[in-house]
Amino acid sequence: MPFSNPRGRDGRLPAYDGLRSRAAGSPHSPDDPVSSRDGAAVRCDGLHRRYGGGANAVHALRGVTVAFAPGTFTAVMGPSGSGKTTLLHCVAGMDRPTSGTVWWDRTEVSRLRERRLARLRRAEVGFVFQSFNLMPAMTVEQNVTLPGRLAGRPPGRTAVHEALRQVGLGGRERHRPGQLSGGQQQRVAIARALVSHPRVLFADEPTGALDRRTGVEILSLLRAGVDEQGQTCVMVTHDAVAAGYADRVVVLADGVIVDDLDRPSAAAVSDRLSRLGG
Ligand code: ADP
Ligand code: MG
Repeated sequence: MPFSNPRGRDGRLPAYDGLRSRAAGSPHSPDDPVSSRDGAAVRCDGLHRRYGGGANAVHALRGVTVAFAPGTFTAVMGPSGSGKTTLLHCVAGMDRPTSGTVWWDRTEVSRLRERRLARLRRAEVGFVFQSFNLMPAMTVEQNVTLPGRLAGRPPGRTAVHEALRQVGLGGRERHRPGQLSGGQQQRVAIARALVSHPRVLFADEPTGALDRRTGVEILSLLRAGVDEQGQTCVMVTHDAVAAGYADRVVVLADGVIVDDLDRPSAAAVSDRLSRLGG
């Protein structure tokens, strides 16, 4: 398939709801010592993550500092084992760094206690996995509402139908995941992530289990969330074509950032990765 780049960076559509204005940080005063630092939607400073200890310790992240601006789409790439998933989990508040800080807008999430973090995460962040992570015995609608129900704040019917319509699955509410194709299942997972209107969407190889055509549909959805709703998206991918949907490519190797490319060509991305052996 030829490398295509449907970014639509010019002529963005206007924001349809509060996402963009929230992302722009409207409540912040210009004197605010924290928000005036860089206005990033998500940022981490000096992130280290070590698994285990002693001779068996694995240093998955070895000092990662990176910021993601509101309304941008970043691809995180790098060889297998370079720390991409660990970084995504740490910045999404699903894992605790060994040291270093993580910020969502003005809030230092790495300091928060578990309950507060969980509550904030459900409100601010969506996460999409390579393997969809749907509950097979539940209907599409039940899957989309599950996180909210677990949090004691189930999304309304209208919100669920709107999220499913947004991903092109209107009318599939009562299907079960097993009755859907892989691409449709990933779209359910995206609807589940989007139903709470998170400011930031993290996706870990969301097209890794899909064929190219279906993958393109998913990437277009992620791109549309950024362009049309001002969402911030951070996506791990192995695929230079997938990275072509992003505004920026951050390259990890051995737990550190080794490159940060602004709208690189697919050829430049492939070349950079092949030199890393990834
Ligand atoms: P990537 O997503 O780039 O493939 P990961 O973040 O999954 O990389 O892993 C980075 C490194 O950390 C690897 O060496 C991996 O084996 C190790 N690792 C990841 N998760 C764990 C864990 N739960 N326990 C021990 N080591 C881990
Ligand atoms: Mg990974």
